Amino acid sequence: MLTGIHATFIGGDARQLEVIKKFIELDASVTLIGFDNLESNFIGATKKELSLDVLQETDALILPIVGTDDEGVVESIFCSKPVQLTDKHFEVMNKNMVIYTGMAKPFLRDHSQAYQLQLVEILDRDDVAIYNSIPTVEGALMMAIQNTDITIHGSTCIVLGLGRVGISMARALHALGAHVRVGARKPEHLARIYEMGLSPFELDDLAEQVDDVDIVYNTIPKMVVTPQIIARMPHHTLIIDLASKPGGVDFRYAEKRGIKALLAPGLPGIVAPKTAGQIIAKTLSRLVSEQMADREGSS
Ligand code: NAP
Repeated sequence: MLTGIHATFIGGDARQLEVIKKFIELDASVTLIGFDNLESNFIGATKKELSLDVLQETDALILPIVGTDDEGVVESIFCSKPVQLTDKHFEVMNKNMVIYTGMAKPFLRDHSQAYQLQLVEILDRDDVAIYNSIPTVEGALMMAIQNTDITIHGSTCIVLGLGRVGISMARALHALGAHVRVGARKPEHLARIYEMGLSPFELDDLAEQVDDVDIVYNTIPKMVVTPQIIARMPHHTLIIDLASKPGGVDFRYAEKRGIKALLAPGLPGIVAPKTAGQIIAKTLSRLVSEQMADREGSS
C-alpha cells in the first residue's frame, strides 16, 4: 500500500492513466498537474496548477516516460498549455522527494544533480525492459506484416543484437516459423543463439548474411546497417530499426537504393498503451513503496 505517500503526476500520455489508477488503488494521495482536459475524473485524485506549495508537499514526483525536454517543459496530451519546470521549482523540492521518469534528458539529470534530488529512470531497468519487449515485438511484427507481401512464416529474418528486445524478437519470429539468423558480438550470445535453435553469426560477418534476407530487425543502438551492408541486400528487403534514435541504419543510403527502412520508436506506447502503462504502474508502485520503507527505516 502507498498510504501516506503524496504522489504528484505532471503530464504524460495514455500510459500515465494506468499508473494514476494503480496509485489511487494503493491509497496514495494523488495530485494531477497538466491534466485539465482529462475527461474521466479519477475519484481520489485532485487536479491542480503547478505551484511551489504542491511540490513542497510531494514525496514522489512522477513525470512522463520522456521526462522533460531540454527547457524543462513536460509534455501532456491532457492539457493545451505546457507545464514547465524551472529552477524555482527545483529549489523548493523536498530533499527526500524522489523524481521518477522513463528516460531523462540532460535538463532533468542536471537539475536533479544540482539540487541534490534523487532521480530514478525506469526504462533501462532489466525488468521493465524485458516486460516492454513484449509490446515492442508485437509492434515490430505488425510493421513487418503491414510492409511486406509475404508471410513471416517461411521468411528469412535477421535480428541484430541479443539484448532484451533481441531475444524476444528472435524467439517470436522462430515461433512463427521464420528462418532466423541472429548477429551478436559476444561468444556467450552466439552460444545462446545456437541453444535457442537459431542461426548465429558474428556481427563482423553481417555483409555475408544479407544477400537473401527478407526482413532485418535491428536492436543495436549503433550504426551497424551501413551502406556496405545495404548494398548487398535484395531490393525487396524490409529493414525495421527498433533501436533508439538515431537508430543503427543508414536511412539515407537505404532510400537511395530503394530499400524500405523504417525507424520504429516508442512501439509499446503506440501498440499497447494500456499494457505499457500497467508495466510502468507495477514497477513505479513497487519503487515508491520501497522508497517509503527506506524512509521509515532511516527515521
Ligand atoms: P539491450 O538489452 O542493452 O541490448 C542491446 C544489444 O545491442 C545487445 O545485444 C548489445 O550487445 C548490442 N550492442 C550495443 N552496442 C553495440 C555495439 N557497439 N556493437 C555491437 N552490438 C552492440 O537493449 P534492449 O533493451 O534490447 O533495447 C535495444 C534498443 O531498442 C535500445 O536502443 C532501446 O532503447 C530500444 N527500444 C526500442 C523500443 C521501440 O519501441 N522501438 C522499445 C524498447 C527498446 P552487447 O551485449 O555485446 O553490448
